[in-house]
Amino acid sequence: MPGFPRLRESYDLVVVGGGHAGLQAGLKAGLLHHSAAVLDRGPKYSRSFYAPRMDNIPGFPDGISGHALLDHQAAALRRVGDRVGYFSPALVTRVDRTPEGYAVAFDWLKQPRTVHARAVVLAMGVVDRMPEVGGKIDTIFPWANFALFDFCLFCDAHDMTGRSVAVVGHDAYTARLALELLHWEPRSVEILTHGWPFLGGVEPGEALALRSALAEQRVPVHEAELAELGGLREKEFRVRFADGAERTYDRGFSGLGWYSMHSEIPRSLGCRFDGDGYVVTDEDCRALAADTGEPIPGLYCVGDLRNGWNSIPEAWATAERAVIHAYASYL
Ligand SMILES: Cc1cc2nc3c(=O)[nH]c(=O)nc-3n(C[C@H](O)[C@H](O)[C@H](O)COP(=O)(O)OP(=O)(O)OC[C@H]3O[C@@H](n4cnc5c(N)ncnc54)[C@H](O)[C@@H]3O)c2cc1C
Repeated sequence: MPGFPRLRESYDLVVVGGGHAGLQAGLKAGLLHHSAAVLDRGPKYSRSFYAPRMDNIPGFPDGISGHALLDHQAAALRRVGDRVGYFSPALVTRVDRTPEGYAVAFDWLKQPRTVHARAVVLAMGVVDRMPEVGGKIDTIFPWANFALFDFCLFCDAHDMTGRSVAVVGHDAYTARLALELLHWEPRSVEILTHGWPFLGGVEPGEALALRSALAEQRVPVHEAELAELGGLREKEFRVRFADGAERTYDRGFSGLGWYSMHSEIPRSLGCRFDGDGYVVTDEDCRALAADTGEPIPGLYCVGDLRNGWNSIPEAWATAERAVIHAYASYL
């Protein structure tokens, strides 16, 4: 079919997810002269798709947007297109172990398909929780697209220096994130719980410690619900509360954590998870079994889904390690 990669029955490697980690895993497999299929739901589901400027990417001293970087990676993958197929949008629905390796079921071009592989790399990432304003999550998108609302401490906190910042969230994670942000010397930090009781349900001792740390650092908490956002034209994060009061900040910051850890497929394969919901791997990014703690043969987990740091250099490094290990051990 012109314009579409040809789907084979089996590959050396199947990569589930084609964000920064999955595209790198596919590229590396092709460079090592293995056949691979990268099955991706679509770039707009990558965490970085809405990152307007990333400053820690080697080779881009003026920064680069997440979607431009994904485009570069997809272009590199096409250079090994004789060995590696990039199927998108392709939604993987299940992965099963077989005597020869794995069977991966997915929907592509509105058809259910299955491919077989000797080894599988899980690279589905995680999904950020968005604040719902006016009952919708997409209200926040314009502020996120203009880098006026950020999600990632290690990626974006350096941009908070000297600025007033509103951290949206209500739990212990939010409180710790607000305190952590102070390291980058913002002008001020405030917490907006968006109608939720602050630290509700948090163990009383921990709640007390967090409250006193916030009071000591002069981080106020506003519990009113957010009714409307504004200030886009002025490059501000302006909030109008349900009671009509307004506050204006230089930046908003999510203290909401993750909406989805994409744990269904790794759980069905018997993977071990850490306390935060990440898949536990060894140094070679082999997924460890929940019951024995031993590596599950031929199964790797890379990028944000794996226990480690959530960043693009880490996504690339884990992808490289997994595919080189697979080359040496299974392929
Ligand atoms: C706003 C923001 C700014 C950021 N800025 C930076 C930065 O400046 N520097 C930095 O290093 N990092 C940054 N990050 C973090 C970075 O985006 C992630 O670490 C990186 O995207 C992780 O790569 P990944 O491949 O593991 O996951 P992702 O890039 O999220 O990709 C996961 C892919 O899996 C696919 N997928 C999921 N489930 C399925 C399924 N069932 N079937 C098929 N496909 C599936 C999705 O379509 C997606 O393409 C930022 C994150 C955010 C949210």
